[in-house]
Amino acid sequence: MSGRTNELVLVLNSGSSSIKYQLLDPDSGAVAASGLVERIGEENGAIEHQTGDRVVEHEGPIADHKAGLQLVFEMFADTGYDLAGIGLRAVGHRVVHGGEVFYRPTVVTDEVLTALTELSVLAPLHNPANITGIESARELLPGVPQVAVFDTAFFHGLPAAAKTYAIDAEVAAAHGIRRYGFHGTSHEYVSGQVAALLERDPGEVDQIVFHLGNGASASAVRGGRPIDTTMGLTPLEGLVMGTRGGDIDPGILLHLMRSAGLDVDGVDRLLNRNSGIKGLSGVNDFRELQRLIDAGDAGAQLAYDVYIHRLRRYLGAYLVELGRVDAITFTAGVGENSPKVRADALAGLERFGIRIDPVRNNAKDRAARRISPDDAEVAVLVVPTNEELAIARAADQLLS
Ligand code: ADP
Repeated sequence: MSGRTNELVLVLNSGSSSIKYQLLDPDSGAVAASGLVERIGEENGAIEHQTGDRVVEHEGPIADHKAGLQLVFEMFADTGYDLAGIGLRAVGHRVVHGGEVFYRPTVVTDEVLTALTELSVLAPLHNPANITGIESARELLPGVPQVAVFDTAFFHGLPAAAKTYAIDAEVAAAHGIRRYGFHGTSHEYVSGQVAALLERDPGEVDQIVFHLGNGASASAVRGGRPIDTTMGLTPLEGLVMGTRGGDIDPGILLHLMRSAGLDVDGVDRLLNRNSGIKGLSGVNDFRELQRLIDAGDAGAQLAYDVYIHRLRRYLGAYLVELGRVDAITFTAGVGENSPKVRADALAGLERFGIRIDPVRNNAKDRAARRISPDDAEVAVLVVPTNEELAIARAADQLLS
């Protein structure tokens, strides 16, 4: 691969205390190197970097994102890639919230950075970290185009009825309040893969995609364009997630603020960190939840039941919104790896043409695949998501 390094794209997904990265070829999808920086800003920082079969590790304090990236670049150099010297095609950055302004992959300039900073108010947990990652990469790789790819972009064209909250229209307009949707890069990539798998033109396929990871969202996609999605102004709405509860009655917040003295930070902690599977069971990892359920833990069982109940509620909504469904697809950590979640989500829906083949569903296969019987009316699929590849391709296409 080293002969074609000027076509490689470095993809960065910068979180508040972590950076996930991949160096990859946007054409073939081949990954040259990848890694994870964890616990930035803490004493016990760590980096695991992999080039080919070779894994290199670093342990020790990592002051900030720039220091983390600097260490990563040294690991790249030690394992054969001098990132400043190989003529990288681009650095692609995952940016969570694009607001009204950004709905296409965008080359980062000073003006773009200013506009992104202004958007942080809409995504206070995510955008500041994304911006720090962009600034660090710009400083360390000054000649390389930095491209921002937005989680909200795919949902930019949601129909007005799906993206509008029924609140005071003037208040909403003044504060950018509408449904934006998130995980768009994944929903777009996976729905495209589904059409390819069915050997049909994306414009002909009507489908539902469940992205079930730590964060979770669903989308209804008609002919390649989303008509609805579960996340809203922020990634808090919709499905039950690892630490976020998804839909709740907003009156709960008023009640807690009035009766329990919760302030903004308290509400934020409750909604973002202490709700969802974690709030109900004490654990946020689905494998741990499964272990608790197997051990007879009632809270864990309830968490699971609420999770499935919410999935099925949206499944029903999207079946009706679409009116006709060619495919239902599961992706991300839980969606790709839990046959039980897939089976429970779709149980008892034979009359809608929705069936799962238990042998296919339980097969330990990593590839994109059909898990419904061949003659089922609705194709049920498992498709591994690949946001890094989608971001690399978006950056590559923008620069073409
Ligand atoms: P993120 O949103 O952080 O990208 P992932 O898509 O990696 O998350 O999904 C993480 C979730 O996937 C965790 O809850 C994890 O427990 C779950 N998961 C991973 N492997 C399995 C498995 N084999 N069975 C059930 N759940 C799994």
